[in-house]
Amino acid sequence: MASFYADVRAVFTDLDGTLTTGGRILPSTYQALAALAVANVSVVVVTGRPAGWGDALLRLWPVAAVVAENGGAIFLPDRKVLAVRRGLPALRRRMAAAAAAAARRVPGARLARDTPYTEVNMALDWNEDVHLDVAAARRLEAFLRGRGFRAVRSSVHVNFWPPGFDKLTACRAVARELFGGDDLRPYIYVGDALNDEPLFAGFPRSVGVANVRAVWEELGAHPARVTRRAEGRGFEEVAAAVLGQRAKRAATRPPRSAARAATSPAMKSSTARMRATLRRSR
Ligand SMILES: [Mg+2]
Repeated sequence: MASFYADVRAVFTDLDGTLTTGGRILPSTYQALAALAVANVSVVVVTGRPAGWGDALLRLWPVAAVVAENGGAIFLPDRKVLAVRRGLPALRRRMAAAAAAAARRVPGARLARDTPYTEVNMALDWNEDVHLDVAAARRLEAFLRGRGFRAVRSSVHVNFWPPGFDKLTACRAVARELFGGDDLRPYIYVGDALNDEPLFAGFPRSVGVANVRAVWEELGAHPARVTRRAEGRGFEEVAAAVLGQRAKRAATRPPRSAARAATSPAMKSSTARMRATLRRSR
C-alpha cells in the first residue's frame, strides 16, 4: 500500500497554530518550508488572516500561493483574486457595525488588531491580544451568524464574512490555477482548529497537528492523521514525511528517470499555464 505521504504534489497549510508556534514561526519550521520548495513540493498557505498578510507572505516566503481571509482573497504569483468585487465599502460598514454590536454583547472582545489590512473578512479577537474563554468566543460566533454572516473561530480570532466564499472552494481554485485540476488527492492539508474543519473534510489526505486534539470533540470532520508534536513542530513532521517519501522514491528509480521526474510533463505544463496566465494579466 502506498504511504499516506507518497507522491505529494503540494502541501496546503493553515498558518496560526500550524506553522506558528506560540504565535511565531520557528527557524526550523521556516526551514521545513524552504526544504519543501527546494524539492519542488509547492506550499500554499490557507488562513483567515488579512489580505495584507497574504500579499506579504507570498512576496517574502517560499510559498506558491496564499489563500487569505477564509477564501475571500487569493494571492497567486501574478495576481490577487477578491471574492467580493462590488459594494465593498458598504459591506465593510455593515461588518464593522456587526463587530461593534458583538463586542458590546461580549465584554472584552474587540476587533482584531490586524483588521485594517483586511478586505472582505473581519475578525474579533478572543485569544490573541485579549484572552477570553471559549464560551465567549462561541457567543461571538452565534451573534455574527444571527446577523447573516458566516462565522468561525480560529485559535486566536472569531472570523466572519459574507456568504459566498470559503477556504475549500478557494483551495480548489488555487489547485486548478497552479496544478491544472481541482482533484485534491495529490495534496496534503495541515491544520489545527475548528476553522480547518471543511478542509479536513475536503482533502482526502488531511493532517492535524497535535494541538487539534483541543477541539477534537467539537470537530464535525476529523483529519485523517494527527502528528505527534504540536504547532510548527507538527508541520515539520509532515514536511519530513513528505520529503522522506520523495527521497525513498528517488533512490529506487534509475538515475535517468529521476532526472526526468524533476522536469515532468505535469510540471512543464503547469509552468506553461502560469506563463499564459501572466501574459493574460498584462
Ligand atoms: Mg489555525
